[in-house]
Amino acid sequence: MKPHILIAGAGPVGMVSALVLGHAGVAVTLLEGASALSMDLRASTFHPPTLDMLDRYGLSKTIVPQGLVARYTQQRDRHEGVIAQFDMELLKNDTAHPFRLQCEQWKLTEAIAQQLKAMPHVKVLFDTKVESVSQTADGVQMVAQCQGETLRLQGDYLIGADGAWSAVRRSAEIEFEGFTYPERFLVLSTDFEFADHLPQLSYVNYCSDPKEWCVLLRVPTLWRVLFPTRPDESDEAVMTDEAVQARLQNLLPQAQPYKTIHRTLYKVHQRVARQFRRGRILLAGDSAHINNPLGGMGMNGGVHDAFNLCEKLLAVIQQGQDESLLDRYERQRRTIAIEYINASTARNKQEIEERDPVQRKKTQDALRATAADPAAARAYLRKTSMLDALERAQAIA
Ligand SMILES: Cc1cc2nc3c(=O)[nH]c(=O)nc-3n(C[C@H](O)[C@H](O)[C@H](O)COP(=O)(O)OP(=O)(O)OC[C@H]3O[C@@H](n4cnc5c(N)ncnc54)[C@H](O)[C@@H]3O)c2cc1C
Repeated sequence: MKPHILIAGAGPVGMVSALVLGHAGVAVTLLEGASALSMDLRASTFHPPTLDMLDRYGLSKTIVPQGLVARYTQQRDRHEGVIAQFDMELLKNDTAHPFRLQCEQWKLTEAIAQQLKAMPHVKVLFDTKVESVSQTADGVQMVAQCQGETLRLQGDYLIGADGAWSAVRRSAEIEFEGFTYPERFLVLSTDFEFADHLPQLSYVNYCSDPKEWCVLLRVPTLWRVLFPTRPDESDEAVMTDEAVQARLQNLLPQAQPYKTIHRTLYKVHQRVARQFRRGRILLAGDSAHINNPLGGMGMNGGVHDAFNLCEKLLAVIQQGQDESLLDRYERQRRTIAIEYINASTARNKQEIEERDPVQRKKTQDALRATAADPAAARAYLRKTSMLDALERAQAIA
C-alpha cells in the first residue's frame, strides 16, 4: 500500500505541507472546514528564508510580483519619527531574497491551490470539519463531518495544521501551554496614504509610544494599522465609528474622517503545544504555537515547520528512515517556537509599549547604534528575519 498522509486545515501551513508531499508523489487528503480558502487579511509579511523555501516550488516568483518588496524596515517613535532604519540589502549574502515581502497570506494559498490542481493524488476536501483523531501502531484515523455526513479516513500519518483552535490538538489531548494577553489587538486597514504625511515612512514601521504604540504596514492596496486596546474597553466600544476614528485621528489628525476597509479585533496569545508529535499525529503552524504579531513570525514560523516536517516525513515513508526522525522535528521546531518565536515576539511587545523613559531611551539608543554599524545591523536583521532561528534549528540533533 502506498503511503497516505492526512492533513487537517487549508491555511498556509496545511497547503505548503500538501504541496511538498504532493510534489514528491505522496498521496495526500487535506480536509478544510470552511467552504473555500480563507481570504482574510491576516499575515502580510514574508521573511527572506520563507521566500527562499517557497522558491523551490516556484512560489516566490508567483507571489513577489503580487506584493511589495520592502527593502527597509523602521523602528519609529510615534512623536519623534524614525529612530532606526534597517536596510535588508545587508543580507544579500545570506539569502536570495534580501527583503521582506509585504503580501497578503491568501495569495500564497491561492498560488499553491493552482499547483495542486495538477496533482490528482492530492485531494482537497472543503466543507469537511475534522472532529476527532486516533491512531494504532500502524495508522491514523480521522473522523470528520461533511455536509451532515460522517466521514472516516485512514492514513499513515496526520498533520494537524488546523490553526489556533486545533481539533487535532484537542483530540490528541495535547496541552497548549502559555497565556493570553489581557488586551486585544485592533487592525484597521485604510486606503489613506500615510506616506504622503509621515516623512520617510517605509513599508514596515514599528512605532513605539508609552501611551499607545502602533504598527504601520503597507500591503499593495492598503495601509494596515495595528493598535493595542485597553483591557477595560469592551469589544463593542472599540469597534464603534467614534472609537476607530479617534484612534486614527490621534495618530495623524485629518480634516476628513478616515475610510476604513477592514476592522479586526482579536485576542493575542503566547502559547506552545507541549508536544508537536504524538506517535503518528504531528502538529504544525498555529496549532502548535501562537504568538503576538509583532515581528511577523506566526505564519513564517508555521511555513518553516511545514518544510522541516515534510522533509522528515518523506525520509521516513520514501527512504525507510527510522520514525524517530520525527522526534527531531519536535526537538527542532518546538525549541524554536519557545526560545525564538515566543521570546522575540514577547520582547518586541515589551519594547514597543515601554513606559519607563529611561528604559525607552536605552532601547532607542541601542537601536540607533545597531543601525549605524553595518555588522551589528546585519546581525540584527538575521535575527528579525528568522535566519538565525533556522541555523539554530539545524544545529539541534
Ligand atoms: C489579524 C492577524 C494578523 C496576523 N499578522 C501576521 C503577520 O504579519 N505575520 C505572520 O507571520 N503572521 C501573522 N498572523 C498569524 C498568521 O495569520 C497565522 O500564523 C497563520 O495563518 C497560521 O497558519 P496555519 O495554516 O497554521 O493556520 P490558519 O491560517 O489558521 O489555518 C487553519 C485552517 O484550518 C481550518 N480549520 C480549523 N479547524 C478545522 C477543523 N476542525 N477541520 C478542518 N479544518 C479546520 C481553518 O478554517 C483554516 O483554514 C496574523 C494573524 C492574525 C489573526
